[in-house]
Amino acid sequence: MSGVRSGYSRFFGGLLAGILMVQFTACTSTGDRQPTATGMETPAYAETLMAPIPTTGFATPLLPESTPSGAEATQSSDPLAGQIPSPAPDPLRFVFPSPGPAPVSAWRPPLYAIPWAPTPFDHFFFSRPIAADEVNWPLADYRYGGIFFENVIHTGVDIPVLNGTPVLAAGAGRIVWAGYGIYRGGNDPTDPYGLAVVIRHDFGYEGQTLFTLYGHLDEIDVADGQHVEAGDPLGLSGETGRVTGPHLHFEIRLGENNYFMSRNPELWLAPPVGWGILAARVMDTSGYLLDEPQLFIVTSRATRQNWTARTYGFGGVNSDPYYRENLVIGDLPAGLYDIRTAYGGQSYEIEMEIRPGVVNYFTFKGFNGFTVEPPPLPGEDFTPGAMETPSP
Ligand SMILES: [Zn+2]
Repeated sequence: MSGVRSGYSRFFGGLLAGILMVQFTACTSTGDRQPTATGMETPAYAETLMAPIPTTGFATPLLPESTPSGAEATQSSDPLAGQIPSPAPDPLRFVFPSPGPAPVSAWRPPLYAIPWAPTPFDHFFFSRPIAADEVNWPLADYRYGGIFFENVIHTGVDIPVLNGTPVLAAGAGRIVWAGYGIYRGGNDPTDPYGLAVVIRHDFGYEGQTLFTLYGHLDEIDVADGQHVEAGDPLGLSGETGRVTGPHLHFEIRLGENNYFMSRNPELWLAPPVGWGILAARVMDTSGYLLDEPQLFIVTSRATRQNWTARTYGFGGVNSDPYYRENLVIGDLPAGLYDIRTAYGGQSYEIEMEIRPGVVNYFTFKGFNGFTVEPPPLPGEDFTPGAMETPSP
């Protein structure tokens, strides 16, 4: 079928790029990016898909799937109206040693076949929406839960592909959105997601429907109601909507197809074979989730390569019901790592093994530091999909 071409303004890119580049440069520690393909070490853009952090927290109940896409969004204030970018709080209170240079190879092992569920609590049900011959992993500096301004938060991950890269269905399902307006409703060409596709998957999780969203597309090659299989082409990547450069914004939604039901895609995308995922619950000494981003640096003992991640913006995104995490780093080659952070003017460090194909987990509790053990087994009141609430 004929594709829908993007015709909408790229001026936002130019408009925001200058401001954002300065801001993000200032907030990013040096040289600790994940490996990227040659020539892509410094993505010259910043993700700008975001909305206000609800001041009331995420008390939204899990409702039956009766709310049309975009209806929730129209109830919230426009995240972009009249907003003046200002620097996010700088979590760095401590100077770490300079990391080594990042490898430039884009090679990674093939992915575990989906669905990959090595434990009762893991749910790597999706393949990557970008083929393996491209960079198909999330940008380290624009992870899920990141705060880019004082009151906005990232509800997906960004994969740094150029315009015109085929975007693939992450799993089998039916197209329930194809076009502009997924956030604002209607066919609004100013929608921050730009041209977007949403799939309602044939499978769910613990009785709840799963959706995946693909944003900022340049061209859409599927139609509403069409059924697709994992790996089927949906369209081409682009830079429609609020972006300052081309990339794919990928989101996972559980329960309902709306912005407030997102989950961290790095806990749902199958990892490369032999690689693992690191998740953590980071708290203050009293056991409450930190209310500002906390930086962690993860260094491979074998290669000295560094990865970084910050904890989620407090209250702004959902955690997994089992892990209750507020920090995730995906795609870590199995092996021994040193994990470092600074808290209250002190540095903390622990050695941890990343096992392949599974979620590896630690907690950090303020001045009590690190603990490496899995979360307690869920009790009778365990309700997958329940909203995260801060608790000791
Ligand atoms: Zn994004």
